Amino acid sequence: MSRPRRGRRLLAIVIVCLVLPYALPPIYRLPVSRPFTGAYLWNPYEGARGRWLRANLHAHGRAWGGVTNGQQSDAEVIAAYRAAGYDIAGISDYQSIATMDTMPTVPLYEHGFNVGKHHQLAIGAQRVDWIDFPLWQGVHQKQYVINRLKQSSALVMLNHPAKLHSYTEEDLTRLTGYDLIEVANGQVMAEERWDAALSSGHTVWGVGADDTHDVTDPDRTAVAWIMINADSTSRADLVNALRAGRSYTVSRTAGTPTAGRLAIASVVVKDGTLTVTCLDEPATFSFVGQNGVIRGTSADAMSASYTFTPADTYIRTVLRGTQTVLFLNPVLRSDGFGPAMPVADVDPLRTWLLRFAIAAGCVAMLWRVRR
Ligand SMILES: [Zn+2]
Repeated sequence: MSRPRRGRRLLAIVIVCLVLPYALPPIYRLPVSRPFTGAYLWNPYEGARGRWLRANLHAHGRAWGGVTNGQQSDAEVIAAYRAAGYDIAGISDYQSIATMDTMPTVPLYEHGFNVGKHHQLAIGAQRVDWIDFPLWQGVHQKQYVINRLKQSSALVMLNHPAKLHSYTEEDLTRLTGYDLIEVANGQVMAEERWDAALSSGHTVWGVGADDTHDVTDPDRTAVAWIMINADSTSRADLVNALRAGRSYTVSRTAGTPTAGRLAIASVVVKDGTLTVTCLDEPATFSFVGQNGVIRGTSADAMSASYTFTPADTYIRTVLRGTQTVLFLNPVLRSDGFGPAMPVADVDPLRTWLLRFAIAAGCVAMLWRVRR
């Protein structure tokens, strides 16, 4: 066989190997944007009791022979967070669940090996899922990955959605089935993406995390975390609290890597009015609603209230203190049976047309270079 011919064959095989996996995910019928409606105001903090646990769920240890850039062992990462006063330290190694029998941790891992940084945190994971699309992902591939992860994990979080625009605002108005979004990834915020999801009627809760690869780097450690209202650090209690939205994100804007002084005392909804009360230092309160619009503010206060208007679909509260900013989960309109959970179903006709087209294209290409 001549050299150019061999080259063409090789190229055809490479193209087929890259294209064929796209026959796997179906074409979904993604729900249209439908802002939260209903006479009832769903308060995720309603069942909150006294205990708040400080947690970081996104930190990398040394894994895969150092390729993924973790500077310390998993055990050292956990020890560093425990020493810094965290109740829960998760290890989010790529495609690998750290098993720490002696540590209060949650089985989790960071899923994704693709150039677009479309990464997810699989929380309460039973096993690692190895399906991904390394080169390109559209909204149907992203939905497929979420759905797969949900089969083997209790909760799915979309990580650092602003990084390389891995999840665009447009994506977040359409994708379904994930539970959490990383609103604070280190110092990088993704509030507008969270509001895109909420404004289109997707109940997703915010999370802050360091995503550190080196716990001695002060710029990436104890920068963002969550406070979780749970009875214990057990897997079940953590998953239940996170699923219910009984948590809030903390972003440290100044000071040393301490917890800051500002904390939440209570979040109460009564007669259409949301009242948030904080502890230890006064804060500036902002009430953020549909499309990320600030609907009200209150400066230098220990407590602030916002009364829902008929046009308000959700309201989430942001508290700015001297060292930290707290991002509370939204209170949202519902029919009283729970928050809205839109689902994507499969479009069988378009799915099989696409699969047929991919298969036919691959066969035709291989046939051409064979002759
Ligand atoms: Zn990542």
